[in-house]
Amino acid sequence: MSFFFLFLAYSAEMSYLCMQIQKNMVISFDSKDLSAAQTMIAHANNIVIATHMAPDGDAMGSALAVYHWLLNRPSAVSHPQEAVVIVPNAFPDFFRWMPRASDILIYEKEAEKCNTLIANADLFICTDFNDPKRIGPVGDKIVASGAPKILLDHHLHPTDFASVVFSYPEATSSCEIVYRFMEQGGPFLNKEIASCLYTGLMTDTGNFAFNSSSCELYEIIAELIRAGAEKDAIFDAVFNQYSVDRLRLMGYALYRKMRIYPEHHLALITLSADELDQYHYQVGDTEGLVNMPLQISDVYYSVFMREERPKPGTPRPRIRISFRSQGNRPVNIWASEIFHGGGHANASGGEIFGTLNQAVQLFEKTFPSYLI
Ligand code: 5GP
Ligand code: MN
Repeated sequence: MSFFFLFLAYSAEMSYLCMQIQKNMVISFDSKDLSAAQTMIAHANNIVIATHMAPDGDAMGSALAVYHWLLNRPSAVSHPQEAVVIVPNAFPDFFRWMPRASDILIYEKEAEKCNTLIANADLFICTDFNDPKRIGPVGDKIVASGAPKILLDHHLHPTDFASVVFSYPEATSSCEIVYRFMEQGGPFLNKEIASCLYTGLMTDTGNFAFNSSSCELYEIIAELIRAGAEKDAIFDAVFNQYSVDRLRLMGYALYRKMRIYPEHHLALITLSADELDQYHYQVGDTEGLVNMPLQISDVYYSVFMREERPKPGTPRPRIRISFRSQGNRPVNIWASEIFHGGGHANASGGEIFGTLNQAVQLFEKTFPSYLI
């Protein structure tokens, strides 16, 4: 009997050690892919950097870091290149401080200018998305272009749209992949790049609360801080910039709109377009809200639904849905099979076109089949 327990303890120890090895894995690039991408970059004259809809810190950080890198490389003197960052729609105000964020073109606001730049592009560098659908109309244009495309991303199952793919779902963030990619071309860090990359690492790990156990991550952070990233100031600029309305909206959502399904360890928050109007909703105001119910001891799953008013030409409102979970409880299959979305095992998104009530009904009908 005691041998049995000894064996169990030994296996637990071994799997723990294996986990540690896994956690310390450095991203290793395929040398052919790397040299193909480096050649594409060296020869390009007009580069469009694109990232996903509703840009988050990782999208902003990875795209802007690539932008700064292209503009500042030693070869930029002998071979100046045009580079531009295009995002499908507006990014939250709390990313406005990011170096050269004001250079970013927002497709929704400047479609014609963006279309011309996309048509003239001879290279696309895509960061932090795995499917052109995630970047809306910009994606259609990029797919239609014959120019080569490099993808730097950490989402599962990239679709087959890029010429060279650097996809590492085990990475903390696209910023981590961008760091490793740029490092291959020699010294590259400056304060701007470091600040952009730090932002993505920080936001995609919830300020290093989850998915952030690898030693490599902290080695990268050390380098970023050495290069001038101001860790505390970046935290402050991103997380401590709430408006009064935003904090009250969070309070309202948690106090009045959070429903708990105790037997399923599940929480649901919904906010209608009218409710958002009451609190003068701005892009990014509900960022982080979906994570909050996970602070309850017995809640392992959290879902947040936000109603967007119908746009001209779309008769029904869009319900944007965020899914979060803890541990070995994937939500991405549920998000993809029922809500036209997908994502990471513990952080996914999706949407339906219909009313909030319809979305809640679909949620209640389907969660028993998808939640452990
Ligand atoms: P969020 O809830 O922050 O909008 O999204 C969380 C994560 O889910 C994102 O980082 C992204 O990986 C994934 N995600 C969000 N929306 C979609 C979607 O519509 N399709 C897919 N495939 N993934 C999504
Ligand atoms: Mn990301």
